[in-house]
Amino acid sequence: MGARPQFVKAAVVAHAFAAKADVDHYIVHTGQHFDGNMSDVFFAELQIPAPRYRLAVHGLSHGAMTGRMLEQIESIFLTERPEAVVVYGDTNSTLAGALAAVKLHIPVAHVEAGLRSANRAMPEEINRIATDHVSDVLFTPNETALRQLLLEGLSESSIENVGDVMFDACLRYGASAEKKFDPKDYGLECSGFTLATIHRAENTDDRTRLAGIFEGLRRSGRPVLLPLHPRTRDKLTDYQLAVPSNVTILDPVGFMTMLQLERYASCIATDSGGVQKEAFFMRKPCVTMRDETEWTELVESGWNTLVGADPDRISSAIREARGPTVWPNFYGDGHASEKVVERVLSLCAERGQD
Ligand code: UDP
Repeated sequence: MGARPQFVKAAVVAHAFAAKADVDHYIVHTGQHFDGNMSDVFFAELQIPAPRYRLAVHGLSHGAMTGRMLEQIESIFLTERPEAVVVYGDTNSTLAGALAAVKLHIPVAHVEAGLRSANRAMPEEINRIATDHVSDVLFTPNETALRQLLLEGLSESSIENVGDVMFDACLRYGASAEKKFDPKDYGLECSGFTLATIHRAENTDDRTRLAGIFEGLRRSGRPVLLPLHPRTRDKLTDYQLAVPSNVTILDPVGFMTMLQLERYASCIATDSGGVQKEAFFMRKPCVTMRDETEWTELVESGWNTLVGADPDRISSAIREARGPTVWPNFYGDGHASEKVVERVLSLCAERGQD
């Protein structure tokens, strides 16, 4: 693992492994995200065991990043000879870990398998497809992902629809979100604010789209809190875009603070995969500033509205945001991480008998 969303997913799985006696579970951190507020804070707050290996592969093009990770992870696997490798989500670290393992004939388990945006211009989409097709066990977060993998011809026996480990994380750490919230701490006069995040390459690497998003937030006329990803911050400077006066920029926040902000926001506007789901877990209406989403059930059920980067659609969706009254249980029973661990351990036992 190496990126923020993976720390959240891996935290609950690491705790489930730690509850097992005689299991040596350890973490390889690729260094894809390395800032204190993008990495260390998650290890500290979520009490994730410190990585046994820390690489420093970041700030490179996709090919260079994945290639360097692959080489270094392979050498770790040659030394450690793990019985199984677990990879999470859809980053370059996911792909590099899966490829390194499969080439050494080490079984690979992919957590959050089967997600698709149908947009092959997204680097994450390529990482997901490639990782799913080299993995031995595919842990899907929901029915949609399960159906997708079957459609792609993957064997039913390799798929386990365990539910979403991020739902587990929200339940496990959510109590802290109930801490008293004072909008004044963020310079807000009242609590009716929109929480926003923006970091997807399709938005940050395109000046028109990024400008459209900030214009949409401005036109919403609502106070907006925006914990800003370092990449987006750099792009704002490069493009010389001004931040509207109703938007308060924060440094990236830790997960506990993020859960608290999600809980107290009246609407969540994002291009993040994880934040779309957390909005749903917190029963908050979500406005997704993308042209498509992997989490289609949220759009179909009315919890999520897709608005692209169009200022008018963004602003009216924020102003009109209202969650439906029905909250369908799409993402399992909150015990996905334990199911992941049980299946990985049985995979190790099966392989041990071969
Ligand atoms: N997150 C956080 N602090 C922030 C922004 C996001 O803790 O300032 C958390 C968020 O709650 C979610 C995860 O990071 O659990 C999502 O990561 P991100 O949006 O970077 O990636 P994506 O989910 O789009 O892959």
